[in-house]
Amino acid sequence: MSCYVCDKHQTGDGVVAGDELMVLAHVLPDAPGNDGAPVYLGHLVVEPRRHVPGLADLTPDEAAALGRWAARAARALHAEHVYSSIVGHQVDHLHLHLVPRYPGTPREFWWPRLDEWPAAPLGGNAEVTQLVGEIRARLDVPGGGR
Ligand SMILES: [Zn+2]
Repeated sequence: MSCYVCDKHQTGDGVVAGDELMVLAHVLPDAPGNDGAPVYLGHLVVEPRRHVPGLADLTPDEAAALGRWAARAARALHAEHVYSSIVGHQVDHLHLHLVPRYPGTPREFWWPRLDEWPAAPLGGNAEVTQLVGEIRARLDVPGGGR
């Protein structure tokens, strides 16, 4: 059985960092349902390494790790606010979305319309790869490199 998230963990595509329980990754233009379109830069996902469908399937250690990674990633995003959601309509492998709202985003484009703002930062694989490197560097700095 093929799983987009499990496959991505194997290839490392879009992966920012991880530990034995969780992977932090950036969404990619080839994500299911995205059809190759540019992505909102900074849209991260925290995913358990184990293929589990929902929050209720996490072990206590995995649940704690999910929260730690979400907080750590949120600090490294350097946003004025980080939205967080679990939807799961496209992929049956738990993934917690973290979506930054950058300073200056007009109120009418706040979540869930962030990527509709004409000045929203969108990018393809090259921009994602560069940002992944920047976020990875901020993760290693206490406080997220601010
Ligand atoms: Zn999976």
